[in-house]
Amino acid sequence: MNTKCLIIGGGPAGYTAAIYASRAALDPVLYEGMEPGGQLTTTTTIENFPGFPGGIDANKLMSDMRAQAVELGADVRTGTITAVDFDQKPYKVTVDVTTEIFADSVIIATGATAKYLGLESERKFRGLGVSACATCDGFFYRRKDVAVVGGGDTACEEATYLAGLCKKVYMIVRRDELRASQAMQERVKNTENIEILWNCNTQEVLGDESGVTGARLIRKDGEVFDIKIDGFFLAIGHHPVSDIFTKWVKTDDLGYIITDGVSSRTNVPGVFAAGDVQDPHYRQAINAAASGCRAALDAEKYLKGI
Ligand code: NDP
Repeated sequence: MNTKCLIIGGGPAGYTAAIYASRAALDPVLYEGMEPGGQLTTTTTIENFPGFPGGIDANKLMSDMRAQAVELGADVRTGTITAVDFDQKPYKVTVDVTTEIFADSVIIATGATAKYLGLESERKFRGLGVSACATCDGFFYRRKDVAVVGGGDTACEEATYLAGLCKKVYMIVRRDELRASQAMQERVKNTENIEILWNCNTQEVLGDESGVTGARLIRKDGEVFDIKIDGFFLAIGHHPVSDIFTKWVKTDDLGYIITDGVSSRTNVPGVFAAGDVQDPHYRQAINAAASGCRAALDAEKYLKGI
């Protein structure tokens, strides 16, 4: 099939791009992959998305964005993009290995995935105390004790953010130094209620039916000990989902797609990027939605030859 505008990704960036592209009569086709709703669906209530006093269930927010896109005319489909060919025009995109779609413009909104440690107990308590986003979930741990895993800028930023809300924040750092910038290190070290547990790895996240209650750590010298916590936050990095595009689309060293200034334009004319796949810094649903809007407006201009 042929489409004027193909949107890849079913998170806030993709759905918002679909809403705007539909209203601009671009008849967009959106592929939402195997995790409709994207990263947000791994959290519970969202209290910082404007317009929802009292908060909104993350899954409901995403299914409403999707419904709005469909209502306005977007053709939302399930399928994983397995290959692209941006050498030919219209651009060729392969879905689930077999279906080929030809698109005059493409909006990449494939997002990013947080890295996890890979522990069984971590999987078990995901959404029940295990989180990869302090800004999203920190509020639920006010005046409680939590831990942040990682020693990079993200971990330091999340630890200082949580320190403003929580009673105590442990940082679980696997080496005897932080990877973070000097300024962030200073900020962490000057925050009274952050305690860094050096040379420590997590063996197990502990919990019961109410959720996370602690973590079992092992220090480099072999000592095993438990800490009591209610929240376990991962901050060991993210993977932008950009691999299949990198033959054509320029990325930075970490794989984030590079866009031109404040626009969503990539180095390939007619190919745009929105949301976390091009944003290593803010990673918030509201920013992803806003950049999805920009991508649809940019695609509209491109298709009109403006
Ligand atoms: P980083 O890759 O910089 O840091 C990851 C951290 O997690 C490191 O301390 C690493 O340890 C640790 N880690 C990785 N895997 C494991 C594991 N399996 N178990 C335990 N610990 C682990 O990722 P960030 O997300 O922090 O930052 C990504 C980029 O974004 C960086 O360039 C950063 O500077 C930038 N950034 C900038 C910000 C700012 O300027 N305000 C804010 C946030 C990010 P080790 O050091 O031992 O490898």
